[in-house]
Amino acid sequence: MTTPVYDPYEEAKKQLRKAVDLLGYGDEVYEVLAVPDRVLEVKLPVRMDDGTVKVFIGWRSQHNCALGPYKGGVRYHPNVHKNEVIALSMWMTWKNALAGIPYGGGKGGIRVDPRKLSFAELERLSRTFFHAIADIVGIDRDIPAPDVYTNPQTMAWFMDEYSRKVSNQILGIVTGKPKILGGLNVRMISTGHGTAITAREAAKKLWGTVEGKTVALQGFGNAGQYAAKSLYEWGAKIVAVSDSKGGIYSSKGFNAEELIKWKVEKGTVVGFPEAEKTFKSDDPLYLDVDILIPAALENAITKENVDKVKAKIIAEAANGPTTPEADVELAKRGVVVIPDILANAGGVIMSHIEWVNNRMGGWIKEEEALARLEEKMTNNFEEVWKFWEEIGRDHPMRDAAYGVAVKRVVEAMKLRGWI
Ligand code: NAD
Repeated sequence: MTTPVYDPYEEAKKQLRKAVDLLGYGDEVYEVLAVPDRVLEVKLPVRMDDGTVKVFIGWRSQHNCALGPYKGGVRYHPNVHKNEVIALSMWMTWKNALAGIPYGGGKGGIRVDPRKLSFAELERLSRTFFHAIADIVGIDRDIPAPDVYTNPQTMAWFMDEYSRKVSNQILGIVTGKPKILGGLNVRMISTGHGTAITAREAAKKLWGTVEGKTVALQGFGNAGQYAAKSLYEWGAKIVAVSDSKGGIYSSKGFNAEELIKWKVEKGTVVGFPEAEKTFKSDDPLYLDVDILIPAALENAITKENVDKVKAKIIAEAANGPTTPEADVELAKRGVVVIPDILANAGGVIMSHIEWVNNRMGGWIKEEEALARLEEKMTNNFEEVWKFWEEIGRDHPMRDAAYGVAVKRVVEAMKLRGWI
């Protein structure tokens, strides 16, 4: 295997070092947390539709279980590599700890281009993978979920393969399942709705309310659409939205529900009749708005374009949309950048509710699930904000979020007698 040039695991370790130093812990804490508990590498021979056998490779990394069973998605991608999976599993430890749910961090991956496989080949690959990792997962050990290029159908195959193997119907072995197999419909809205909650809470801190505040979104997929919808329902003005095909603007603000309908039907926001003007996909980033929601890709705001960003609050629906240099610059300018680890945790919080619901035999009402999400997101936001004020708001809010997360994990490790 060739060593990748950019190593996300090195980045993850740097972030950990920063948090450990900020909290005043010693090297011992860093060393215990810098290495995952276990990484399983598995060979995945799969019979293709033409009768040949192809061998794929996959991993499951279990980073830390101080707070509970490992939890995190499985991605299918042609470039995924072991260190990426390890880094993502460490990142899940912090994300779950910050979310306030009783989970550690895990992540899985298969090096494959799923777009080149037939439905039947994908099923065989998914079953082979889950069979291969079955000995280290479990409803109280490690609970996978969807990630890049995996979806509720993949989770149904995982759950079925596991249930066959243990001769028991274990719906809660994975989350993000189809509704009929124990999933929750509200899972679809939970990431975007959660991001909107954090933006609303930040707006309350700065201006007392989110009502009447202007919002721009870069990216209008699952996360962007539901962030826009909730903010629209709370009286914010959605003035700009974009997707990979282009962007649209309205000084009066868009009706988010109508816009979602249009996007679903036409595949793009471009052409929406209420638009006053059309612009490029990246243009929402540079508008003079109160709230900006990057909801597309990583590295949207970098040291090259940070000077052009004028929003006062940035709520990161996407993973990693702000580079570390840009983050530092924005903090210096007094911009509130709500970090991804806090702003897009709605999905994983809803996963926890799905898991609880499976264990209770399907007891929870969807409105109860939403009320829990609201409570968790606001509490987590409040706690991070408090710690941010303690460390000083000239630091990126991200430092405070990592601080709260790492502190929770370390506290659990101390009580368990690990350190
Ligand atoms: P998605 O595929 O549903 O939507 C992505 C959107 O971004 C699409 O509208 C696409 O057209 C748009 N886009 C792509 N390139 C663009 C560009 N250059 N400029 C403007 N728009 C562009 O994906 P999603 O599920 O909404 O995820 C978006 C981000 O949120 C990703 O970073 C993802 O990792 C993160 N995230 C999503 C979830 C979730 O539950 N959906 C959870 C956590 C994090």
